[in-house]
Amino acid sequence: MESKQQKLDERYLRMARIWAENSYCVRRQVGALVVKDKMIISDGYNGTPSGFENVCEDDNNVTKPYVLHAEANAITKLARSNNNSDGATIYITASPCIECAKLIIQAGIKRVVYGEKYRLTDGIELLRRAGVEVIYMDVDEEKSEKL
Ligand SMILES: [Zn+2]
Repeated sequence: MESKQQKLDERYLRMARIWAENSYCVRRQVGALVVKDKMIISDGYNGTPSGFENVCEDDNNVTKPYVLHAEANAITKLARSNNNSDGATIYITASPCIECAKLIIQAGIKRVVYGEKYRLTDGIELLRRAGVEVIYMDVDEEKSEKL
């Protein structure tokens, strides 16, 4: 039987997927939500920094180096708020990269629930090394496994 936490995790991850639709990136759309004490305290999707044109790819359809990942946008948004991510859970529609994994660790986030595996797993491994709980969840088939 599914636990209450598992149901919540699934719903937040589905919300993160909907949030990813905000991304104007063409190659890939990723969404992230930071949840603390059952409140969404931040959100993000991949995109260029504030003030830059809303185009993620260059003329060769390569993602620009200054595009921020969804996790980075969600965490840095908190840096401008009165809230903080200490002890929070982050829901990400895709497996976090190693750069975002570093930010997640330093932001005090204790759980990561993500929805899409990637061939590189160094981000996931780093999170685990730091004692962050990492959960992969396949929202479509509503099954999950603890990694
Ligand atoms: Zn990343």
